[in-house]
Order: sequence, then C-alpha cells, then structure tokens
Amino acid sequence: MRSSGHCDRSASRAATTEIESNVLSLDGAHVDQLPENCPLNPHKGMYHYQESNQRPGRQKTVKCAFCGKSFKSQFYMDRHMDLKHEDKLLSNATVCLADYCDVLHCQSQTPVACREEDIKHSQLRCRALFDRCFPIDADKRLHDFYLHHYCDTLSCRGAGGEKRSPFSQPYSSPADDAAPGGRIVLISVLVVFLIVYYAAMLYSRRETATRRDLRPLRNTRQAGLWSSILRMLPRGQNHHD
Ligand SMILES: [Zn+2]
Repeated sequence: MRSSGHCDRSASRAATTEIESNVLSLDGAHVDQLPENCPLNPHKGMYHYQESNQRPGRQKTVKCAFCGKSFKSQFYMDRHMDLKHEDKLLSNATVCLADYCDVLHCQSQTPVACREEDIKHSQLRCRALFDRCFPIDADKRLHDFYLHHYCDTLSCRGAGGEKRSPFSQPYSSPADDAAPGGRIVLISVLVVFLIVYYAAMLYSRRETATRRDLRPLRNTRQAGLWSSILRMLPRGQNHHD
C-alpha cells in the first residue's frame, strides 16, 4: 500500500488514454514489448488497479467494483477512491503517469504560462523517455517516429492546454506505403488484366490456326465444285460455236 500523494488523477487518466490510444497503437509498440525501465506502461500507473475497477452504472453513474457504490460523476468517484480505497494502490504500480503529460501532449494539461526554458527541459525529458521506451537499436523506425511526433513538436505555440495532436501526420512505414485495401485492388486489377491478356492471346492463336486450316479446304471445295459444274455441262457448251 502507498499514498497517491499529489499525483493528479485526471492528468494520469489523460496520459493513460494517450498511451493506449496512440503510443501503443502502432505496429511493434505493444505493452508487453516495453522495456522494464519504461514508465509508459499503463499497468505501472499507480491508479491502474483502481481505474480498472470502475464500471458504468445506471443513469450515467460510475460504479465502484470494490464496494458497489455508484457516483454521479467521475469527480466524486475519484474522491471516493482517495478516501476509501487507498489500500488498492498496489506496491508494484508506482508510476505517476501525470508526470509525463507535458511530453505526451495531454488534453487535460492545466494552462500555464509557457517559458522557452521549460520547453527545452520537456524536450530533453521527452527524448530520454522515448530513448528508454523505444531504444533506437531495437526499432529505429519507431524511435525516430516518436521523437519526431512528440519531442520535436513541443513548443510554446499551442501550449497552455490546447491540444496538439502529434499524430496529425499519419504514421507510415515502408510496408505500409500501399494500404492493405490498395494492395488488394492492385492485385485484383493485375489478375484481371492477366486473364484478359491470356484469353485474348488464346483467341488470337486459335483464330489464326482456324484460318490457316480453312484456307486450303475452302480452295479445295471451290475447285471441286467448279470441276463438278464443268463435268455436268455438255462438252460442246464449253466452247462458243
Ligand atoms: Zn468503493
């Protein structure tokens, strides 16, 4: 058991949402693959156990799965957790995820006056964080992506609670250059083209062969018909008198 101290629940929730929705949404970025010393693991968040024991109740209430009480808002539920269930803060989950809200661009960041030195400090923390969680030697592609989308985008512009989306530019890897849907359409078009091409080739070859076979036959038939007509005519009629 431990004390939550001054770890902001709302900011921790926002950080968890950002981690689960964006950071861990990319190929190769799974929670089980995070290094042990990476704090961006929702399961290590000090409120994880308490948060996972809250359910939607009747009439838009929030229900506590520990004791069954319902609350009309998240605010009262948070207060209930602080007052009644502090024993549910697990000793192996000690990370205050709210501490990373600055580098994660959390939506619920409290508006503050922006100072350039704070931004520089956050950028250094950001780089150290993603160096640790997504080491460059493990996956350079992911490492560079996070540094670019989270750390390089930290600036006074947009600070003060305004949400900046580091994922505004779509993530792409060489394998993703052609979307799965696009690849399927491309392959289908290629298959149809090949079928039409070979069908046309086959038809053309058969047509040529048929013509070649029919030509002498036609000539023979014409020659035969003409000789029969000539034979049927009286011999004298073959010549003009
Ligand atoms: Zn309770």
